[in-house]
Amino acid sequence: MARTDFRTPRLYVEAPLAEGAEVKLDPQQTNYLLNVLRLGADASVLLFNGRDGEFTSALAATSRKGASLIVGRRTRPQEAPPDVDYLFAPLKHARLDYMAQKAVEMGARRLRPLITRRTQIARVNLERLRANAIEACEQCGVIWAPEVAAPETLEKTLARWPPERLIVFCDEEAPQASPLDALGEVSAEHGVGLLVGPEGGFDDDERAAILAGPRVLRLSLGPRILRADTAAVAALALIQATLGDWPKGRRGRGP
Ligand code: SAM
Repeated sequence: MARTDFRTPRLYVEAPLAEGAEVKLDPQQTNYLLNVLRLGADASVLLFNGRDGEFTSALAATSRKGASLIVGRRTRPQEAPPDVDYLFAPLKHARLDYMAQKAVEMGARRLRPLITRRTQIARVNLERLRANAIEACEQCGVIWAPEVAAPETLEKTLARWPPERLIVFCDEEAPQASPLDALGEVSAEHGVGLLVGPEGGFDDDERAAILAGPRVLRLSLGPRILRADTAAVAALALIQATLGDWPKGRRGRGP
């Protein structure tokens, strides 16, 4: 990933991006630039849409109907995100917002809410989840648009899981062992699914169904019971440090 300019405001837009194009902003984006960031005419804004890379842009016409930006040069080519699915049991609002943001900052490409027997909430506000994910991209320099899937039962997800695709199953009942060593012995050439359970954990039948999968790495995250959102950040850090897009040292196998 090319070095990111973290000083200039960044904005996700749906529109195609090419030098000289005019991008019209919706009222929410206009309000954000004009009233929250208090930007004036010609102010610089970095744009990305998840397809064309990142571009400079300058704030042009501003009217009550909405502002527009004139697209400048491309600053970063489009990058493919690490092929990491984050499979999680949805939590209550504020913590779900937090989880979505942290998962994106830690490089998850897809957010996949799972309905398990002890999931606290079955209905997920996908628009809110997606808005939190996009806001995290704008803040942390990601230029792809994370996919947010509709909730699915654990059973259905396991039944449709590609056999060659690794599942990293965070299990507080796993034997204590080094997660770095465990992750250092598997390959993620067909991508990774990180599986974290609900606050009540998985029940025995669910645990057995998960462990019956063809490529499942049962991962201990140490001797303490972590909250589901803490476990997600810890596990994503371990995955990115060994299999993902964090720089590799002597232990990891560099890209
Ligand atoms: N069954 C737990 C208990 O006894 O309180 C509750 C589950 S924990 C709050 C939520 C999820 O975080 C677990 O399902 C697991 O995926 C993950 N997790 C928490 N602590 C962990 C640990 N030490 N090792 C591996 N995974 C952990």
